[in-house]
Amino acid sequence: MLKPEKITTTTCPYCGVGCTLQLHVKDDFIYRVTSPYESPVNHGNLCVKGRFGYDFIYHPQRITVPMVRRYLLDGTSDKVLGTRKDAPDIGNQSLIPNHLSPSSWDWVETDWETALDLTANKLVEIYRRDGSDAMAVYCCAKATNEDNYLLQKMYRAIFRTNNVDHCTRLCHAGSVVALQQAVGSSAMSNSAAEVIQNDVFIVTGSNTSENHPIIALQMKEAVRKHGAKLIVIDPRRIELVDFAELWLPLKPGTNVPVFSAMAHVIVKENLVNWDFVNRRTEGVEEFIASLDKFTPEYAESISGVPADLIRRAARLYATAQNAAIYWGMGISQLSHGTASALALIHLAFLTGHIGRPGTGLNPLRGQNNVQGASDMGAMPFHFPGYMRVDGPGNAEQWEKLWNIEPGGLSRKLGLTTTEILSHAHPGGIRALYIMGENPLMSEPNLNETRRHMEQLEFIVAQDLFITESAAFADVFLPATPFAEKDGTFTNTDRRIQRVRAAHPPRGLSRRDSDIISALALRLEARLARPSAKWDYAHPSEILREMASVNPDYAGVTYERLEKVGLIYPVPDETHPGTPDLFLETFPRGRGKFTPLDYVPSAELPDDEYPFILTTGRVLEHWHTGSMTRHSKLDELYPEALIEIHPADAEIHGIADGMPVKVSSRRGSVILRATVTEKTTVGVVFIPFHFHEAAANLLTNDALDPQAKIPEFKACAVQVFPAREHDLQNPAALMERGRY
Ligand code: SF4
Repeated sequence: MLKPEKITTTTCPYCGVGCTLQLHVKDDFIYRVTSPYESPVNHGNLCVKGRFGYDFIYHPQRITVPMVRRYLLDGTSDKVLGTRKDAPDIGNQSLIPNHLSPSSWDWVETDWETALDLTANKLVEIYRRDGSDAMAVYCCAKATNEDNYLLQKMYRAIFRTNNVDHCTRLCHAGSVVALQQAVGSSAMSNSAAEVIQNDVFIVTGSNTSENHPIIALQMKEAVRKHGAKLIVIDPRRIELVDFAELWLPLKPGTNVPVFSAMAHVIVKENLVNWDFVNRRTEGVEEFIASLDKFTPEYAESISGVPADLIRRAARLYATAQNAAIYWGMGISQLSHGTASALALIHLAFLTGHIGRPGTGLNPLRGQNNVQGASDMGAMPFHFPGYMRVDGPGNAEQWEKLWNIEPGGLSRKLGLTTTEILSHAHPGGIRALYIMGENPLMSEPNLNETRRHMEQLEFIVAQDLFITESAAFADVFLPATPFAEKDGTFTNTDRRIQRVRAAHPPRGLSRRDSDIISALALRLEARLARPSAKWDYAHPSEILREMASVNPDYAGVTYERLEKVGLIYPVPDETHPGTPDLFLETFPRGRGKFTPLDYVPSAELPDDEYPFILTTGRVLEHWHTGSMTRHSKLDELYPEALIEIHPADAEIHGIADGMPVKVSSRRGSVILRATVTEKTTVGVVFIPFHFHEAAANLLTNDALDPQAKIPEFKACAVQVFPAREHDLQNPAALMERGRY
């Protein structure tokens, strides 16, 4: 019988803007997406992903039945590694051919009881044998707050490990560490919509038009309708440059000298807001002394940005009534990502452009719920609410809530995402649980990642598709996408919003939180652990449990989120939420200046590898493509392209549309060139969504020493013309390893 049409209001599953979606549903199929003008986030506007990118839900390759490797059913555990090596040959540049059917990898479809029992048995076997340090989990910034809270709870409460992380490590870890160090809070200080209150704003390391399109719309409106002045500091001629007063085209990886030179100008030209500095900060004398060498001319010699442009940008920002800074992964994805973010924070401290509406320090968070997953404790150093695992009194609160004996929770800092894989070897990590993440596309230096994945004894993948990483799994637990579950997401400006199911799960797939609860009960029973709560009638109960200890969410209930959500901190149930932070003080008290040095990127161009490669997203796709590449969006942007400047293309004999081979010291890919002035001379750009030419085969796994974030934004590559034949048969050109 045909079901009546209905409209479900929910939140977009793609970027951190968190646009409100209305899913029009008939016969349990979404056939149209709209958005209400009343949404305070997006006022009825949607980008192409939110509007059209929902059809991955119905893609024939979606897995909706639990699957296990045959060896698990046979009970022959000695087959583990051998069986996994039967996974598709992901050699050459195609990490996993889409056309391969799961059955060809020795998968066996099974029921939930069998899949969960086998998973529990194997995890317990490894835990009993090798202990907490052998266990690790990747939570998921696409999943809800409730899903992430439960998964980190399962690993902390049952396996007693803090080896818990997610993709925040790969996007904004540098920003998080810098902000925690400087102000004691790592979220955006002001709401994105406040951009129309800015007189001047800086956008740096963010191609906002493609990564956060609706925020870019508001930025353009701020310039066109409200007369704001925009300063773009970016190696690429991004769309926002067309709206900018100034564009500082710095070389990738030279943020610290450029921002520090702006600070130098602000100090030398007496543009410092001394009232703010004296009242609200500490360490300014030492910091100012450290600026001596950062003259605009010194910064020009490193970054290529004319000294005069640096001076003009500094004056414009410092003399504004209200100025704000918005930044993206071009700041944080560097081996000195923490220093880059600190250098930006210093500009706000010197000028007092923080702690008022229309000002602020605003790292634009990438994934829809990366803010929320971090808030939920999906990180190795923090329980939910950014409570340090080694902080006094913190573990005790969670032990009480989770019914764990005193001292039962680990106080040892866990491993980060990147460290988890590099510790995958006998004596290190043996079992990895992956909820929705895709390290075999998202990690740097994928050849190395593959070698680490092969070392793991047992991998659980909880996902929608057999991703590049799930192809290595021993068990596949089919989960549901955003449109088949209830919960909450927290967007980039801390707005907690409802996620609502539009129709039931497809096939046998289950909601992530239901899968975790069912597995946790099995694990507890096998390990005779004290019983924590796992049986929740509704996700709202999960949120309330977390909020009972996390003060930022204390006043959040599903009822209060019903219309437009709430911006945290929400300290009690009468509190209206907090769009602007730091009005009176910073969480750490005074804002802290930190003297900085310029440290070059780990790999600089040379005669052999003369280009700097920088990577990022395009409008039509999202991250590792697990959703958008299973959507009609893929028809809009079906293949990876490398952007190369016309001057470089001419020197190297490269024409627009020509296949080229791009190599770094770690691997090679073949893809078509697009010759464009969008990039600058000496810099090439590749989006990282395409497994056929995975940009992360090339990127460098050098880490920021504090944040442990890899250097995705700068590595040295060579680019040579290839033939059409090579594009179709890339293996023929690959000399290095399997790629
Ligand atoms: Fe979704 Fe982001 Fe596009 Fe809004 S801007 S529709 S949240 S992808």
